[in-house]
Amino acid sequence: MAGHDDARGEAVEEFLAKSLLLRECDATVIAKVTPHLMISELPAGATLVRAGSPSDGISILRRGRATASLVHATTGASTPLETLNVGDHFGDVGALTRAAHPYTIVADEPCVVLRMKPELVEALMARVPQFSLAIARRLAARAVQLGVITLRASSAPATGSALRAPTPAIGVEVRRPAPVSPSEGGSAAIPFVEVSDFEPGARVIGMLPTKLILQHRAVPLRLQGNRLLVGMVLPRHAAALAELRRVLHTVDFEVAAISLEDFAQTVQRFKLDAVRGAESTRDSIAVISPESLAYDAADSEREPEKGVRVVGDEVVRAVNRVVAAALSRDASDIHIEPEAAGVKVRFRVHGTLHDWSESLPPSFARGIAARLKVLSGLDITNTRTPQDGRIGLTAGSRELDLRISTLPSSRGEKVVLRVFEGSGMMRPLEQIFSDAGSLGAVRKALQRPHGAIIVAGATGSGKSSTLYSMLNERRRARPDTNVLLIEDPIEYRLAGVTQVQVHAGLGFSQVLRAAMRQDPDVIAVGETRDAETARMALEAAMTGHLVLTSMHANDVGSVLQRLESLECGRTLIAEAVSFVVVQRLARRLCPSCVRLDPPPPALLESLVARRLAERGSQVALPRPVGCDLCQQTGYQGRIAVVEWWQVTPEARDALAAGASHQDVLRAAGEARMLQTFRHNAAYLMARKALGTSEALMAVAG
Ligand SMILES: [Zn+2]
Repeated sequence: MAGHDDARGEAVEEFLAKSLLLRECDATVIAKVTPHLMISELPAGATLVRAGSPSDGISILRRGRATASLVHATTGASTPLETLNVGDHFGDVGALTRAAHPYTIVADEPCVVLRMKPELVEALMARVPQFSLAIARRLAARAVQLGVITLRASSAPATGSALRAPTPAIGVEVRRPAPVSPSEGGSAAIPFVEVSDFEPGARVIGMLPTKLILQHRAVPLRLQGNRLLVGMVLPRHAAALAELRRVLHTVDFEVAAISLEDFAQTVQRFKLDAVRGAESTRDSIAVISPESLAYDAADSEREPEKGVRVVGDEVVRAVNRVVAAALSRDASDIHIEPEAAGVKVRFRVHGTLHDWSESLPPSFARGIAARLKVLSGLDITNTRTPQDGRIGLTAGSRELDLRISTLPSSRGEKVVLRVFEGSGMMRPLEQIFSDAGSLGAVRKALQRPHGAIIVAGATGSGKSSTLYSMLNERRRARPDTNVLLIEDPIEYRLAGVTQVQVHAGLGFSQVLRAAMRQDPDVIAVGETRDAETARMALEAAMTGHLVLTSMHANDVGSVLQRLESLECGRTLIAEAVSFVVVQRLARRLCPSCVRLDPPPPALLESLVARRLAERGSQVALPRPVGCDLCQQTGYQGRIAVVEWWQVTPEARDALAAGASHQDVLRAAGEARMLQTFRHNAAYLMARKALGTSEALMAVAG
């Protein structure tokens, strides 16, 4: 059952009042619904909904981001449908049809989900019209996105998009009028056609580069004179249309809507995905030969002695071929599944799963799983429970991490490998701390020979990636230092850093104790979760080591409270901690379409209440608009809103003398040694990077 508050501080009811599903419902309805919600937290990569599984009600995404995909029943190919963000709901189709879910939803980041049981959904649908209306609106919007249903303005305007008309009527387009030119604007209906009606040949298909066909899900259908008809899954996608217009500038082109199924079949019929593989190999991604793969020294040392080798050379070579084939295709995931006919290997490339053309005999299944487990240091004798691990490898000039997870199935273990680039994910500190003051404070703390730097935030706030960026900067600035990183699991590979993974039986505190004997200058502890680790980390910081660690805490004050609750004494905290930074992620406004407008009075009131604006001020503030570059969302990427505290001798004295956290931090603020979320949010708004609503959320936490 969902409580009235969660760790983030915002009441569930407050959140629901902003969600797509319930925002038009009365507070009394929301208050009644709240106690009946089932709350669950899921890690990145978890499946929230599996296509074909029975409906279990409607869920609202409380935190995180997820992607819904259609999975082809026979080929298993998956096509991304839409991205679900905080406040979006899913499971509505299954709940309404009382049938199995038609799509699969996977968490892109750690997610928190609030679920309503089917009985609750039905009761609300029967009694609360606003609720039913919200479901209907969402379905209609999604249908438009799929290009199957056409929205027609009740009084079709001569120009402008029907989607933006004030009171659109919803209807399924059944007639098939002549196709329209996309340059005429979106007001006219777009016909829905089937590719087979046109039987396009290779010459017509070849009018558009394969890359664009796959990227925009657009298929040239018919060329008559100078007029080319293009079938698109999303016929109103402005950015796609703009690019097609640019590429097809020698012809007049017209668009028609086609279904996703139809598109997928066309791609298969013309073997366009195979062409794509060859193309990308030529273009940008170097072909990687199986012989060039070098696994981490530490990993290969784990391999048992020759005499007790568990897998033959044939299997070792097969695994290398699979990995090399995946990397050559720029795959993000490798799926290896035992089947009756053989080992099925699939690669996810640009979001879509493709079968590997090569087949491996069924007898290889156990050997392949065992080989991968040896490389990742997993227990090869355990085939009954899921296991997770990582394999570090070098392929040519690329340093990579393969994150492995195994899942026992009826035919043996299914193995999924996720591919991570080693250093490519590291962002420079300038990108995380965009204002000079914060950047300077962080750099100063990193220059010190000792002291503890604590990076805090909620789950999914990007705190570990900030920790790595800090370590990387320190390592670059002072390459002579001995850096040791202890984490669980190892998330990125850092050149020049000794990385130790914590596992069952070897916890943070034990590794930390051993690490102290290795004479490190810098010690990074992935996350401090227990009292012993916290105390040892702070003690190390007091004895000549620079210590970096991350913690789960919402602001600077909570970091101090958390350390005290982990049994660190006041004196230890005061002496050891040198810098605390807490971050919250917000959406970054799209720089190409952001606009400055005076905020509406109600919004201004909220901003004034949070001291992000002054009452009566006529100042214009940035707001999202939407353009082709940002897929009409108004946002591009994300940005960290930070709060930091630089610990001074005065603060140490006050803290050690028993002053309250509030007093210590207030004095730090006056001395400009503390920058709050509010300061940073105001700065980012002034830079037009943060919109007003995102600023309010970041400040409220
Ligand atoms: Zn934009």
